[in-house]
Amino acid sequence: MRDFTRDHSALALNTATLGHNLDGAGAGWSPERVIDACAERGYGGIVFWRREIGKRAVELGNRVRASGMSVVGLCRTPYLVGSEVPADLAGDLAASIEMAASLGAPVLTIVTGGTEPGTKGVIETQSRLAEHVATAAPLAAAAGVSLALEPLNPMFGGNRTCLFTVADALRVCDLVGAPNVGIAVDVYHVWWDRTLPEALRAARGRVLGYHLCDWLENTRHMLLDRGMMGDGVADLRAIRRAVEDDGGYRGLCEVEVFSAENWWKRDPVEVLDTIVARFRQLC
Ligand code: ZN
Repeated sequence: MRDFTRDHSALALNTATLGHNLDGAGAGWSPERVIDACAERGYGGIVFWRREIGKRAVELGNRVRASGMSVVGLCRTPYLVGSEVPADLAGDLAASIEMAASLGAPVLTIVTGGTEPGTKGVIETQSRLAEHVATAAPLAAAAGVSLALEPLNPMFGGNRTCLFTVADALRVCDLVGAPNVGIAVDVYHVWWDRTLPEALRAARGRVLGYHLCDWLENTRHMLLDRGMMGDGVADLRAIRRAVEDDGGYRGLCEVEVFSAENWWKRDPVEVLDTIVARFRQLC
């Protein structure tokens, strides 16, 4: 497990932490201002959301690299299963892959979408998910992009995900069997899972991303009340030990705090500085 106490070059900002993926949330900084502020503070990378990139993927990707950081990833594909799949799924999926490639993002995250209409549970949906991912994987590979299946906390079952655990995500990876398909591990979604080390041993070498936040003791909104690292009850060091020592992950650690009533209301300067300090002390 790496030592970050005196080195935060492995720290990345997921721009959702500044409220940038929702209308009216956050301070409304431009991507350029976010890039400059992260670079000034020694962040190693940034993860963007599609809606803030628009048609400027190449330009913004170059700006990140010129500032000495890397684009760590892009959020995210459209839902691939469930009742909210877009009408033009193939087109939208291809556009997300193309944007990741243009941005120079090595990883495109997949939040799967929920249970398929007309089915129950998640097993059948996972099979359909695997078919979609198997179709997308060669397109992504040709663009130099890997696809990361992110399991979500089980409370997001139904409408947002059909993957509840690392083991679920790995099962779909195995069904797909493509070298550029792996998983993303997010503290918010896995902190409760005491089987995480063994699940990550099975996933060793296929962990493509690690997302940091905390689970507040009293979570008031399941989507928009994540905690900053250290403010909650997740065992952050134990989780990272499993991600690194068991899962073999050596990449950047992205801070992803959706927090409509707290961190999104603060000055981004304070948020970015707090992240650096908490990362070094607690993560
Ligand atoms: Zn995440």
